[in-house]
Amino acid sequence: LPTSGNSIRRRFLEFYAARGHKVLPSSSLVPDDPTVLLTIAGMLQFKPVFLGKVPRQVPCATTSQKCIRTNDIENVGRTSRHHTFFEMLGNFSFGDYFKKEAIKWAWELSTIEYGLTAENLWISVYEHDEETYAIWHDEIGVPANRIKKMGEEDNFWTSGLTGPCGPCSEIYYDFHPDRGYSDADLNDDTRFIEFYNLVFMQFNKKDDGSLEPLKQKNIDTGMGLERMARILQKVPNNYETDLIFPIIEKVSELADVSYALTDDSSRTKLKVIGDHMRAIVYLISDGVFPSNIGRGYVVRRLIRRAVRTGRLLGIRGDEKGNLEGAFLPIVAEKVIDLSSEIDPDVKTRKARILEELKREELRFVVTLERGEKLLDEMLDEALEIAKLNKTAPCLSGKNAFLLYDTYGFPVEITMEEADERGVSIDMSDFDAEMEIQRRQSQAAHNTVKLTIENGSELTENVPDTEFLGYDTLYSKAVIKG
Ligand code: ATP
Ligand code: MG
Ligand code: MG
Ligand code: MG
Repeated sequence: LPTSGNSIRRRFLEFYAARGHKVLPSSSLVPDDPTVLLTIAGMLQFKPVFLGKVPRQVPCATTSQKCIRTNDIENVGRTSRHHTFFEMLGNFSFGDYFKKEAIKWAWELSTIEYGLTAENLWISVYEHDEETYAIWHDEIGVPANRIKKMGEEDNFWTSGLTGPCGPCSEIYYDFHPDRGYSDADLNDDTRFIEFYNLVFMQFNKKDDGSLEPLKQKNIDTGMGLERMARILQKVPNNYETDLIFPIIEKVSELADVSYALTDDSSRTKLKVIGDHMRAIVYLISDGVFPSNIGRGYVVRRLIRRAVRTGRLLGIRGDEKGNLEGAFLPIVAEKVIDLSSEIDPDVKTRKARILEELKREELRFVVTLERGEKLLDEMLDEALEIAKLNKTAPCLSGKNAFLLYDTYGFPVEITMEEADERGVSIDMSDFDAEMEIQRRQSQAAHNTVKLTIENGSELTENVPDTEFLGYDTLYSKAVIKG
């Protein structure tokens, strides 16, 4: 049975290749699609075929797709299963096979190829999709108490208000069958993990909202590689799999902490860096360089978060200057070491990736340190004013927002330092500033929103404001291997 991440990926592709699928490479994280900022699912490269705009090249295909989901950034390190960067294994049918085969194969892959115990697998189906229910129940033999009927929100996929759409069905792994069936909740992540989503694209939604059956029925699926690795490697979360843990170990070494012995909060920080470094390396490799707009801003934000998180762990370069002030390139090397089977091009771009990271990190550290000084001055001033007016010292929301927006300071740091010096922060004013910026950026970017699959909405806040703290001008050239 496969256990390493690489063997799980290979086994998936071989399984579907043996069933007539053409194995295709992952497409770039920069999609050939103006409606989305980054590649968020395996189906994206096939969207024109699914929409009938482009004739199919093959009847069915299989891929391991690099994906970025920035909408999951708050979950990173907090849930056991969400990343900003992950690989989605998928099998796709373009008017070829449909539900029966898709379900049968997904089951066979899970139980025979990956050897999962059938009793540990639960199924979700769309409540009105009797056909799918019957296949799972009557043909595969999953008992009724392990099939959950769910509503439109969870189990009906649309690509917009109109167009191709259809029900989906997901497979979950149960880590605690001992807890019984009666009030099992598939969203309880202390017990279950969703790993495979099968989308049955069978309708065209018309302007009046009615559903018309499609002549060409499609299959679009996605299985999270890191999640399957976590199940098969029997570790408590995706981060401890061989796909990510070596990166975390590198960071622990730099921070001089032990992942096993440290507290939860430090462990979360290690996970955040482990996650973000993968996203950063693969984005830069695909030609996305740090900047203040669009995709470039996504990378910049991830880099800033990684640097700040590293500083909170005490990574600042040692007295011997071994880090030369920059630690991201050291961690990135580990990410690149692990990249061969995820994307063979990454190694050929190594020098450029490391150079870009070093420059961006050092520049950001200067900004951060300037922000720290500014915060000190702001707090001095707040204390002085309070003394003069005999009022309680308070930092204005505007100032806190300036630190956040321009100097990349997380408001929690500002709050902590203010608190230490006995200064409160006008949070309602801060929230108001945030709301103004959110509206501005939404107005500027509502063209890049697309709801794809259940709930995975791309809602990156990309501010169109200038960052004063940086010297800009980054190369926009795409690196070619
Ligand atoms: P979840 O409910 O856990 O957030 P999802 O329903 O949003 O997952 P899908 O859009 O159905 O996920 O994507 C297909 C598969 O891709 C999921 O079943 C899961 O295995 C994987 N996946 C989705 N989002 C992530 C993520 N942020 N990190 C890692 N794997 C993911
Ligand atoms: Mg889900
Ligand atoms: Mg899903
Ligand atoms: Mg999700």
